[in-house]
Amino acid sequence: MVSMAKFFLEFTVEESCGKCAPCRIGNKRLHELLGQICEGKGKLEDLDRLKNMSLVIKDTSLCGLGQTSPNPVLSMMENFREEYLAHVNDKKCPAGQCKSLMKYIINAENCVGCTACARVCPVNAITGERKEVHLINQEICIKCGACFEKCKFDAIYIS
Ligand code: SF4
Ligand code: SF4
Ligand code: SF4
Repeated sequence: MVSMAKFFLEFTVEESCGKCAPCRIGNKRLHELLGQICEGKGKLEDLDRLKNMSLVIKDTSLCGLGQTSPNPVLSMMENFREEYLAHVNDKKCPAGQCKSLMKYIINAENCVGCTACARVCPVNAITGERKEVHLINQEICIKCGACFEKCKFDAIYIS
């Protein structure tokens, strides 16, 4: 829901004519803040900032576009607050949409060491000998998901 709210704002930022500051600048700030939350850099107080900024934009924008632009943010924060809290408190994206917050992990119990994942990894983030448990280096992983798709043993999960 956080990334969806960000997606809706992209449209507004693009379509704003720029005549009034609340819509022109406020929506950009809202978009930036949502982006930081999606990257795991959000803080709890950012949720209040999102709400306050949204209400100011609604109240002070000149036309319908600006007056309605924060509605997705407000309604999603109200109805899916736990998802926002998971992003800022736990640095997790329950829906698995925010790449920065995802981790691909190999379950040692399921991994048979077939090496298939390591062979498809575009950045050589997976190490391990044949028939031994493999390991993903989180510092290198770019979260492309190729290993997840490739593993036939359900040994890779997303956290
Ligand atoms: S609220 Fe309307 S007038 Fe103001 S910048 Fe946005 S589109 Fe233009
Ligand atoms: S593809 Fe799956 S089973 Fe094979 S090495 Fe990778 S994680 Fe282990
Ligand atoms: S998600 Fe992509 S980059 Fe990360 S370990 Fe798997 S294949 Fe490599």
